[in-house]
Amino acid sequence: MPYSDKYWQKEEVLPKKELEEIQLRRLKWVVRHAYENVPFYRRAFKEKGVHPDDIKRIEDIAKLPFTTKEHLRENYPFGLFAVPKEKIVRIHTSSGTTGKPKVVGYTAKDLENWINLCARCLYMVGIREKDVFQNMVSYTLFTGGLGFHYAAERIGAMVVPSGTGNTKRQIQFMLDFGTTAIHCTPSYALHIKEVAESMGIDPSEIGLKIGCFGAEPWSESLRKKLEDSFGLKAYDSYGLSEMNGPGVAFECEEQNGLHIWIDHYVVEIIDPETGEVLSEGEKGELVLTPLTKEALPLIRYRTGDITFVMQDECSCGRTHPKIHRILGRTDDMLIVRGINVFPSQIEHVLMNLPEVGDNYQIVLTKRGALDEMTVRVEVRDEFFTGELADLERLKRKIENALREELGIRVNVELVEKGTLERFEGKAKRIVDLRS
Ligand code: ADP
Ligand code: ZN
Repeated sequence: MPYSDKYWQKEEVLPKKELEEIQLRRLKWVVRHAYENVPFYRRAFKEKGVHPDDIKRIEDIAKLPFTTKEHLRENYPFGLFAVPKEKIVRIHTSSGTTGKPKVVGYTAKDLENWINLCARCLYMVGIREKDVFQNMVSYTLFTGGLGFHYAAERIGAMVVPSGTGNTKRQIQFMLDFGTTAIHCTPSYALHIKEVAESMGIDPSEIGLKIGCFGAEPWSESLRKKLEDSFGLKAYDSYGLSEMNGPGVAFECEEQNGLHIWIDHYVVEIIDPETGEVLSEGEKGELVLTPLTKEALPLIRYRTGDITFVMQDECSCGRTHPKIHRILGRTDDMLIVRGINVFPSQIEHVLMNLPEVGDNYQIVLTKRGALDEMTVRVEVRDEFFTGELADLERLKRKIENALREELGIRVNVELVEKGTLERFEGKAKRIVDLRS
């Protein structure tokens, strides 16, 4: 049962002070839980000279050691679990964007919490009983499938668990079933648009109203493109397997920052180089401590994702702070001739050029000791005049726009529409041939 016609749970609108009390009580619990049940944490706490009794205020969290992706991998598969195996009712893994997958586990209570967090998000963007929710992400080990599936069911929407792939059939389902809301990666949404057009269907006539897009970074320009072509409202969904999966942070109707549920996660932003906690509003690496996870209580988990906390009050009435949409991740930041480049910056430039299609690829090579970056982009049919001089002019135009944004010289290679790979899940747009 929803708390009201606007909020799924009453915790969404609790006064800040009450939220902070819940946070502190839960933080004390989770720190002790990790210390008493996970040998890794007992050792790590001893090394740092801290003890669960040292947690008296939220800020004391800074005394605790970090947990990294490496730690999860070193303890593969179940080494950081804090409950006996018989209490685990499900496992998932991360999608393995950056190496060996991380395995995460859930108790029955963890699943219950997770469903409600995801339901908060879907309810927040207006998904209700009357909606038809087509969930177009992988239903296997990836958390995005089952996570939102159960949440949408809990709300009472009609769920179409169509998974990924067979895009023409997905579009046919949308038309036949009257799909109103979809969940997929933003790159898959772009692909759907393209396929619909190739079928002679105007994406805006499908009838979609709500798009939940996440699992990878995407730009404001891409949001605009998806909203304009499908005639829907596109919301950013953030999560990671280590924190249950999706449902960690999500945009509300303002579409300006993602509410992050602080009754379930403590949020810190650190300097990724020094590990020092940054002050409010400063940009850095997001560090999360889940407060209610029984199976896998990760302490100060370094997400590798770059963002900052926006402290404005929100017109939607929720009292949970918002984070800016993810600007990139520390491990996909490219260093090209010493300059930090986030793929999202490149996407932003490309999406603003009308001649450029929706797909691109970034290729990194070495020429002697120097890094070379080549961006391969598809040219829209209507701009493909066949005149060499036109193409040359376009190439220069894109190169200049990229140089202006990134501060480095970039080669652009124009290719015909349909040349570059399409993606059903997370896009892999970077090809690094430097080592
Ligand atoms: P991985 O991709 O590391 O194997 P996951 O499948 O759990 O693991 O994906 C989580 C990661 O995906 C996050 O840490 C973040 O880098 C990225 N991600 C998820 N949602 C978003 C989003 N809305 N915007 C940007 N990046 C996102
Ligand atoms: Zn809001």
